[in-house]
Amino acid sequence: MRFVMAGLGGYTALAQPLQAAGFSQSLLDDVLDEAARFAERELAPIYHDADRLGVELVNGQVRIPELMKSAYTQFVAAGWPSLSGPVDYGGQGLPSFVSVPVNEMWRSANLAFALAPMLTNAAAEALFEHGNETLKEQYLEPLVSGIWTGTMNLTEPQAGSDLGLVQASADLVGGDYRLRGRKIFITWGDHDLTDNIVHFVLARTPGAPPGVKGLSLFLVPKFSLADDGSPGPANDIVTVSLERKLGIHASPTCVLSYGERGGALAYLVGEPNAGLACMFTMMNQARLAVGVEGLGIGERAYQKALAYARERRQGSLPGHDGTVAIVRHPDVRRMLMTMKSLQQAMRALAYWGALNIDLGRVEGTAEYAARAAFLTPLIKGWCTETAQEVTTLALQIHGGVGYIEETGAAQLFRDARITTIYEGTTGIQAGDFARRKIAADGGATGRGVLSELRGQLAADAADAGLSGAARDRFQAALNAAEAALDSLVEHYANEPQRAGGVAVPALMCFGTLLGGAMLLRCVAAAARNPGSGVGTDYLAGQAMLAEFYAAQLLPRARAFADAVVAGGASSAVLPDTSF
Ligand SMILES: Cc1cc2nc3c(=O)[nH]c(=O)nc-3n(C[C@H](O)[C@H](O)[C@H](O)COP(=O)(O)OP(=O)(O)OC[C@H]3O[C@@H](n4cnc5c(N)ncnc54)[C@H](O)[C@@H]3O)c2cc1C
Repeated sequence: MRFVMAGLGGYTALAQPLQAAGFSQSLLDDVLDEAARFAERELAPIYHDADRLGVELVNGQVRIPELMKSAYTQFVAAGWPSLSGPVDYGGQGLPSFVSVPVNEMWRSANLAFALAPMLTNAAAEALFEHGNETLKEQYLEPLVSGIWTGTMNLTEPQAGSDLGLVQASADLVGGDYRLRGRKIFITWGDHDLTDNIVHFVLARTPGAPPGVKGLSLFLVPKFSLADDGSPGPANDIVTVSLERKLGIHASPTCVLSYGERGGALAYLVGEPNAGLACMFTMMNQARLAVGVEGLGIGERAYQKALAYARERRQGSLPGHDGTVAIVRHPDVRRMLMTMKSLQQAMRALAYWGALNIDLGRVEGTAEYAARAAFLTPLIKGWCTETAQEVTTLALQIHGGVGYIEETGAAQLFRDARITTIYEGTTGIQAGDFARRKIAADGGATGRGVLSELRGQLAADAADAGLSGAARDRFQAALNAAEAALDSLVEHYANEPQRAGGVAVPALMCFGTLLGGAMLLRCVAAAARNPGSGVGTDYLAGQAMLAEFYAAQLLPRARAFADAVVAGGASSAVLPDTSF
């Protein structure tokens, strides 16, 4: 993690705001060390037991296993929830470039647990950006500190990817909004970790226009506040049921019914009918966060598979007497190298995205903001799709016992599966990427990214000690991505159906290429800076990862680009009845 952080130059680029906020590099290093300790000692050990115990709904109240409750209490006491929160409201104001690696550790250690602070952070950011002063005064500090948690309530049975179909409503009654409606799949929608829960709910006000333009965002507390700001009477919210699901069993996924007894007291956040824009603050945070979930869970799967491959003995090899550890077998090494290099590429891409978000805030330029927006669906879509591959390879390396629950490889595989679905499916991310982030600006942001990579490729490849063949593969992948970009711009203008059918290959092409290019950038940066503390063996290993990536994984970017250029006409024209 430190290798990638240093390689991307984040400390240098953010030196001024970090120093102004009192953060030296050594202090930030301490933060990473402490987070690692907390993740290893408190969160990772309860991951399997919490999954086995699961959550339950008892008399309308969701109960969380005691071991998760105790971990959460310690998490709050140690100040972890407030890491990136606004300083005026008790936060520590750390940039994403530092909070993202810390969050990666929580998600590696215990995904079900990590979802509660993840959504709370996103909720706090939405309130900070869009809430009025009274709401901020009342709710922001408890959310930033984690003594209350936040949720995100978008989905209804008929409104999943298409939020224009949301029906929940909020009426003004005697000066207060009263909210009614049913929300499904609400993560950490109810629990007994904290004494209040603050729901952020999309709903319509009377006479609002149809579709997404008529959505408003409301803050709806589980308990209304007493005069002294503490939780008072229960609001009109019922936890109807808990979903039984494939993974993340220790994270309650709730069906919530609002307003069965006259209407839940709700407060408008932002302007009426501007709910989606406000919710987008939350969703963008959450999309980056879910991308980092893919990275985190993949890392744990890799480490687990590696440990098993070193210990399990099967088969022999030419020149060996007796059986060897399976890590010696070429095909197992292929799987491990695939996982390891994909992990480092995902990490480099995700941290680069975080750095662009921070630079956008610090510099206030549209260019960084556009680049961060370009990278967000890529990080979400590519890292979570890649996590499917990494966790399935981990299971494969375990052989038969991987399929048996006791080893834990199956849990990682199950838990990773949700990441390509919630916070917008891969199809939705890809549509956003190809249409809004590429076609809408005529490909300008994408071309800017590609030309930056092209400008650095020769120097990075030389400094990283990449072979000529590997450098040529990077060059070829860049050319292919450029052709894919041109083709998308042209087809979205003339034949949007054809372009939409290849949005996912476009996302996968750019994710594969940019992840690899950022990995290469980190290797080159360390090679240029021998005094940076990166050990020679470690650097040689990372250079080998870049070489492996170029040979074995980067060709996928070209294949995806070919599919984009070919276009999705065939799937678009096949009559529905012929499927
Ligand atoms: C465990 C879990 C936790 C969740 N947590 C939350 C939460 O906290 N808050 C919340 O509000 N929601 C939450 N969700 C809901 C989640 O965000 C939705 O399930 C998701 O957005 C997809 O919506 P859907 O299930 O209705 O699928 P649909 O929208 O019906 O999609 C079905 C398929 O059609 C595709 N599709 C649909 N529309 C398009 C399109 N326009 N272009 C291309 N493809 C399309 C999708 O990609 C998908 O493959 C959670 C879900 C789960 C399972």
